[in-house]
Amino acid sequence: MPKTQLTPTETKNMMLQVADAIIEAEPILTDADRALGDGDHGVGMERGMNAIKEKLGASEYTSVGKVFMDVGMAMMSSMGGASGAVFGTLFRAGGKSIKDSESLTAKDLAELITSGTQSVMDRGGAKPGDKTMIDALDPAATAAQEAADQPLNEAITAVAAAGEAGRDASKAMIATMGRAKTLGEKSIGHPDAGAVSIAIILNTMKNFINN
Ligand code: ADP
Ligand code: MG
Repeated sequence: MPKTQLTPTETKNMMLQVADAIIEAEPILTDADRALGDGDHGVGMERGMNAIKEKLGASEYTSVGKVFMDVGMAMMSSMGGASGAVFGTLFRAGGKSIKDSESLTAKDLAELITSGTQSVMDRGGAKPGDKTMIDALDPAATAAQEAADQPLNEAITAVAAAGEAGRDASKAMIATMGRAKTLGEKSIGHPDAGAVSIAIILNTMKNFINN
C-alpha cells in the first residue's frame, strides 16, 4: 500500500533497501565513473552501503532524522574520497534538519533534500551545471518543495522523476569539478556517476514508499 508518511522503523527499512539497491548497482556505478573519473565510485559506494547496513541493522530509531544522520556518518567514515565527504554531508546535514521529526512526511522529505543539497554545495563548492550529483539533487529538491503539501508517496514519485531527469541532463554538461574536469568537452555524453547514484537512491525510496 502506498504510504502517506513513514515511521522511523519504516525509514530505516527503506534505507536498508537503498543500500541493497546500490550494492546491486555497483557495476553500473563503476562503469559510469570509469567513463569520466577513476572508476572507484561503485566500490566506494558499496563500502558505504555495507557500513550503513551494519549501523542501521544494529539500531532502533524514534527519529527519522537520526536514521539519515547515521546513514551520513556511516558513509563518511567508511568511504573516503570525494564522495565519502559529499554523500556523508548530504545525509548528515539533511538528517540533522529533521532530527526532531517522528515521522517522515513530504515536508520532511523537502527539508531533508534541500538542506542536504545546500550543505553539499557550501562544503564542496559545486553548483548546478558543474556535472556532479548536484545536478540530480537540485531538481529533486525543487520537486520536493513543490510537493511538500502532498502525501509522501506522491511527493517521492515527483522527486524521483526529477532526479532521473537531472541525471540525464548531466550527460550534456561539461565537467568543471572533481576528476572529470580534466576531460573538458570529452566529458559530454556520459552522465555523472554521483548523479547516477542519486537517481538510484531516490528511485529505491520511491519503490519502497509506493509498495
Ligand atoms: P572520487 O572523485 O574521489 O573518485 P567517487 O568516484 O566515489 O570519488 O565519486 C565521484 C562523484 O562524487 C562525482 O561523480 C560527483 O557526483 C561527486 N562529487 C565529487 N566532488 C564533488 C563536489 N565538490 N560536489 C558535489 N559532488 C561531488
Ligand atoms: Mg572516482
